[in-house]
Amino acid sequence: MEYKYHGIVLGKRDIGEVDRIYTVYTREKGKIRVLGKGVRKPNAKLAGSLETITQGEFFVAKNRGLGKITGAIVTDNFGHIKQELMLLTNVFYVFRIIAQIISEEEEDGEAFSLLENYLAMLDNLGEKTELAEILTVGLLFKLMDRLGYCLEVNRCVHCEKKLVLEKNYLSISRGGMLCAGCCERETRKIAISNELIKLIRIFLKNKLENLVKVRIDSRDLQQLKIIIKEVVSWFSGEAFRI
Ligand SMILES: [Zn+2]
Repeated sequence: MEYKYHGIVLGKRDIGEVDRIYTVYTREKGKIRVLGKGVRKPNAKLAGSLETITQGEFFVAKNRGLGKITGAIVTDNFGHIKQELMLLTNVFYVFRIIAQIISEEEEDGEAFSLLENYLAMLDNLGEKTELAEILTVGLLFKLMDRLGYCLEVNRCVHCEKKLVLEKNYLSISRGGMLCAGCCERETRKIAISNELIKLIRIFLKNKLENLVKVRIDSRDLQQLKIIIKEVVSWFSGEAFRI
């Protein structure tokens, strides 16, 4: 059987003498692994269309086991991202998290669209590469939410009262905020500023496109990355290193 997928190449790994296994995030089938047979031979044409951070249509022959890539049509190779270290660093960070939180063959068109939008926006940032980080953390909060790792940021996860912006804590294991009155009930918790709570609310409520207007200082950005790391580690059951 031959299948056609719209996808984004997330990574690759050499196997054998001349082959590679590619990880592709597809609209139709979620994350898949496919074999690129002979792609490391000097005259192999397919390898150029299968570079990491490439979007395209991929043709896969599959009966049992791993599918084999038979053809690829590149629709976007994100040339600007590949020339800017700052953008590349952000994209690889996102890809590493996707590798950890998205299981194979779990189709989710909306999660795919989020990633597709994110890459297109990064590629079109021009000189404004400093906006990459806000888009990256925004995408990850939205992606985690979409995948079912929802963080409750409006109510206390213990008493369920509407959260008052005071001295609140985040409990990763309970999946959300603890109010000042309930924070003693949880030993593992992260103190979280009102500014961070507001930022997470903005990420969850707004489209990715609107996040370029959000201003964030580098300390808050680092705090958000720590929260992402904790959430990813908790939900995937494996430690994640930033
Ligand atoms: Zn409470």
